[in-house]
Amino acid sequence: MDMNRRTFLLGTAAAAATATAAQSATKANTLQQALDAMRVKTGLSIKRIESFTQGDLLSVVRLTADDGSQGMGQISTYDADISATVLHRKIAPFVLGQDPGDFETISVRCIEENYKYPWSYVNRALTGVDTAIWDLLGKRADKSVCELLGGTPGPIPVYGSSMSREITPKDEAERLLRLRDELGYRAFKVRVGKTVGHDQDQWPGRTEEIIPTVRKALGDDVALLVDGNSCYTPAKAIEVGRMLEDHGYSHFEEPCPYWELEWTAEVTRALSVPVAGGEQDNDLAQWRRMIGMKAVDIVQPDICYLGGLTRSLKVAEMAAEAGVTCVPHSANLAMVTVYTLHMMGVIPNAGDHVEFSIEPTPWIDGLYSPALTVNDGKVTIPDGPGWGVTFNPEWITKAERQVSER
Ligand SMILES: [Mg+2]
Repeated sequence: MDMNRRTFLLGTAAAAATATAAQSATKANTLQQALDAMRVKTGLSIKRIESFTQGDLLSVVRLTADDGSQGMGQISTYDADISATVLHRKIAPFVLGQDPGDFETISVRCIEENYKYPWSYVNRALTGVDTAIWDLLGKRADKSVCELLGGTPGPIPVYGSSMSREITPKDEAERLLRLRDELGYRAFKVRVGKTVGHDQDQWPGRTEEIIPTVRKALGDDVALLVDGNSCYTPAKAIEVGRMLEDHGYSHFEEPCPYWELEWTAEVTRALSVPVAGGEQDNDLAQWRRMIGMKAVDIVQPDICYLGGLTRSLKVAEMAAEAGVTCVPHSANLAMVTVYTLHMMGVIPNAGDHVEFSIEPTPWIDGLYSPALTVNDGKVTIPDGPGWGVTFNPEWITKAERQVSER
């Protein structure tokens, strides 16, 4: 990471609210200009959309243009078989025959034409097309997506992200310590409260125990983050937030039910520990409201839930204009983390670390190569053309194929 970017990041993290309009405008224009530069017709027409689905977790998309050029992407994980059906029924009709250089028009049209079926599966399916288009554009230019948008591939720091609430605080501290020593992680996220828990804990006392236990085990040099997964009312969130402040935590994620924007904004105003959120939000107008009301200090768009890179860059752009840091949600090691690495190499308001799951996920093994690996607490942005990774032919052969074409 170069010094200018580092300086900018530190500035946004420390003083988002005091960033001058001129500074924000300069940075936002950089991303805007990168997007504008990409809106160039290729003269191609998308003639085939294929999906390759295994079980209900994963579905890969392959686009083919009329000159035979191809791009590959992935629909959002989880119920991907449902999203694949949505892809062929509700998305493909608005993509076939279009020029891939019109990626933004395609993205907008797929949402507007589905105005009676908003968000969720429509966006998850759109992600497959949008990310395949970016792969195709990168391959045509012989550049990675990151380079295509003006970024530089290279190692990028990650935070080790625990997905478990069943683990005891003692066992969690031990496994994070081991990962710190073996792989050089310098940041971790753990879970507090209970998912959509109405102020309840996973078991009584777990949250009060895990916050100091993990800090004590890892020492003061490791950045610590927590995720509340929509657990708390504002009063309880502020109480937990004070505990986080006392132990030097630097990120309190989704403290309140995410749809209660006013609750989250109240918590954000009350606490000095930065509040993060937005992984579930996939409506750009809702994002505009969230950022406008300063509901969170750190925005966390999920590229796969939101509908692809194009829409996620829009969120990053809105956040940059407001001087708000962006750390996308990338909670598994399927393609969402690959996409996020490229995006974090591009956006001017990227936070300090990319989210990187530490959970074993055998259902992802063999999907693409090379696999992402952590060295010295960093993961390298894949630097081949397009997304810089190859979907493995053996995986594709085993999957169920569906096709839409004209
Ligand atoms: Mg989360």
